[in-house]
Order: sequence, then structure tokens, then C-alpha cells
Amino acid sequence: MALIVQKYGGTSMGSPERIKNVARRVARFQAQGHQVVVVVSAMSGETNRLIALAREIQADPDPRELDVVISTGEQVAIGLLCMALKDAGLKARSYTGGQVRILTDDAFNKARILSIDEANIRADLDSGHVVVVAGFQGVDEAGNITTLGRGGSDTTGVALAAALKADECQIYTDVDGVYTTDPRIVPEARKLDTVTFEEMLEMASLGSKVLQIRSVEFAGKYKVKLRVLSSFQDEGEGTLITVEEGKKMEQPIISGIAFNRDEAKLTVLGVPDRPGVAYQVLGPIADANIDVDMIIQNVGHDGSTDFSFTVNRSEFEKAKAVLESVRQHIGAREIIGDNRICKVSAVGVGMRSHPGVASQMFRALAEEGINIQMISTSEIKISVVLDEKYLELAVRVLHKSFDLDK
Ligand code: ADP
Ligand code: ASP
Ligand code: MG
Repeated sequence: MALIVQKYGGTSMGSPERIKNVARRVARFQAQGHQVVVVVSAMSGETNRLIALAREIQADPDPRELDVVISTGEQVAIGLLCMALKDAGLKARSYTGGQVRILTDDAFNKARILSIDEANIRADLDSGHVVVVAGFQGVDEAGNITTLGRGGSDTTGVALAAALKADECQIYTDVDGVYTTDPRIVPEARKLDTVTFEEMLEMASLGSKVLQIRSVEFAGKYKVKLRVLSSFQDEGEGTLITVEEGKKMEQPIISGIAFNRDEAKLTVLGVPDRPGVAYQVLGPIADANIDVDMIIQNVGHDGSTDFSFTVNRSEFEKAKAVLESVRQHIGAREIIGDNRICKVSAVGVGMRSHPGVASQMFRALAEEGINIQMISTSEIKISVVLDEKYLELAVRVLHKSFDLDK
């Protein structure tokens, strides 16, 4: 007997028929003698609908109240799935995040899980129930409802698997595993049988939304066996996220191409070039709880320098406002911004032992006349910031250039 946590995403829960389908799959696992905890997302489109609704009332919705609204999608989903399970003759019980007591910090809209009280779940499992938990949500110390950021049900799934010491966490979605790039953009993309945590972490953080980044962090930290599978197929091993780097003779240099269009760039022009300036610019941005990604500071000339960085597009206006107040204080000349950019990245642990990957990437983009605005590299990834209009072309060109379709 194994304890399995299964997470079903929005598309898998997208209609009454699909919910019944999920119930049938869960029933099969239980019939094999396994204990099953199910984590579900809201039905597809529901979270977007709720966010749009909130914005019709308040252009920049109050963060606490937004979480009250957008957490409801998952509450509907757990109730419906439990009904389907009961109809199929199983014992099932639903829990919201607060009912489990998934305790988070109080960063509304992007809260982090601090602890999970798993006693009730265990008791239910021991009495033969399927336990169905709402993804994407928790409560803070004061009992406020919080949500975990878009795609957060993945993190609920992995965190529960860690807390329960589950044998496996299965992420069921609308593709049958992790691909060399998003198969919606490149139909020739190939499914990977395994991918290392390190690579998956990079791919998730660079925009491959198949897994939320925090779920991968959790799985790595707590050694959760994590697998991505299709809820629409009965066969197939999906993709296993592994600790080991492949022992294959021919380790591919690049494992995948990731991209993110939710990016925006801000530049502070004419910053006095003196010690402490980066802190003076980025300190207030961090204090406003805005995540900064790429940072570039140009070599100074005439005692001044330019300072650019990228943020999530949803935080562009907020970051710009913070910078405007910083500008006067530090005596910078001007703030400019561009929220029509994207980031495209090549990821692969094989890059460590192969120089020349960057130049191959830059050449492939140059041959298509694609201008690179910013570059950032690490041991296992190279990222470039581009005009958003080049996103799909760049992804296709790089996928081909690194032979990922072969
Ligand atoms: P769910 O609703 O099940 O959580 P998501 O839409 O969040 O599903 O994630 C699945 C989607 O991720 C796929 O439909 C696919 O378009 C996209 N995706 C992006 N990059 C990749 C990748 N490298 N491999 C597989 N899917 C990817
Ligand atoms: N329903 C939430 C979202 O759309 C959480 C999730 O799907 O994982 O972001
Ligand atoms: Mg998702």
C-alpha cells in the first residue's frame, strides 16, 4: 500500500464530465489498495474570471479581499469532486486550506506555506476516505484566507506530499509530461522521461508554467518523488523529476527552452555612480515586496551610470511609482520602462561541460534579426530579454538550433 498525493489542474477539472473522470481515476488507485489525497485547482478559466470580476469592482483590488474572492474557485472544485467520488461509491471528504490548516505567511496573493496540520487527513485516510484538499490556498496566523500565487495548487500538492511523507506526488495536467519546450508553441517539442530538480527549477522559474516554481523547491528540499502526467491518458509514465543527473553517455547540452512573457523592464537613467546606489534603488523595490529578476548596471561614465532591471509585468506600475520617488532622492535623471518584453532561456545541466552554448544561442537569434536587450547566465542557463513580438520565433529557432526536436 502506498500513500499518493494526486493534483489535478484546471483543465482536468474543467467540466462535470471531466470531474467524474478524475473521480474514476482516483477510484482506480484506491481499488489498488492505495491511500489517496487529491488536491484540485479551480475549474479552468474560473480563477481568471474571478480576478476580472474583482477588477470590475476595484481597479487595483484590495489584496486581502482578492484572496477571499479567488480562493472560492477551489472550494467549488473540492465539493464537486467529493460528490462525484461519493456517487462512485467511495468515502470522501473535502477540506479547504483553512480546514486542513495549511498555515501560510500573510503575503496575500503570493503567500508561502509555513506548516501543515496533517492529523485530520491521516485519520480520514485511516478510516478509508479519499481526502480532497483545495489547492492554491491557506490561512495566516490571524485566520485570514491567503492564496499562493498563480499555479499554486502544484505547491499545495507537493507540500502535502512532504507533510504526509507520501510515496509519490503526481501532478496531473493536460500534457503527458514535461517537454523540451511548451508544446503549444513548438509542436515538435519532445517529452522528457526525466528531468533533474535543478533543471526543472530553472525551467519553472524562467516561465515554464507546467509546475509552479515553489512546488519544485519544496519537492527538492523535502525529497518528494514528483511526477508530471496527463489526466487524459491512462497509459504513460509521464516525466519524473530526479535528483540524479542522467548517467546517459550523451547528456544533451540543452534540456529545454523556457520563456516568460509576464516581464517588464525598468531603467533608471543618469544614476550618480557611487557606492550604495544599487541598494538605494533596489532597497525600496524590495521593501514594496516586488521581486526583481535580471539586473544590469552599465559601466559608469562622467560620474553617472544607467541601471536596469526586470520585474513581473503585473508589478510594473507599482515598481515605476516606487522608482519615481527614489529618483529625486538619489538625483537620477529619468525613469523609463517597457512592459512589452519577454525572456527566453536555454536550460541544461550539460551546459556546465560545454562552452560555446551562449555564442550558439546569440548566433541563432542574430540570424533571424532578433535584437537582444539583456543577457543573464548561470552555470546551467542562458536567458535573454527580447521584444515580446519575437517570443514565438525565438523559441522555435532555439529549439531547432539545439536539436531539441531530434
Ligand atoms: P494545470 O491547469 O493542469 O495546472 P497549466 O496550464 O498550469 O496546467 O500547465 C500545463 C501547461 O504548461 C501545458 O498545457 C503547456 O502548455 C504548458 N507548458 C509550458 N512549458 C511546458 C513544458 N516545458 N512542458 C510541458 N508543458 C509546458
Ligand atoms: N486556480 C489557480 C490558478 O489558476 C491555482 C492553480 O491552478 O494552480 O492560478
Ligand atoms: Mg498549473
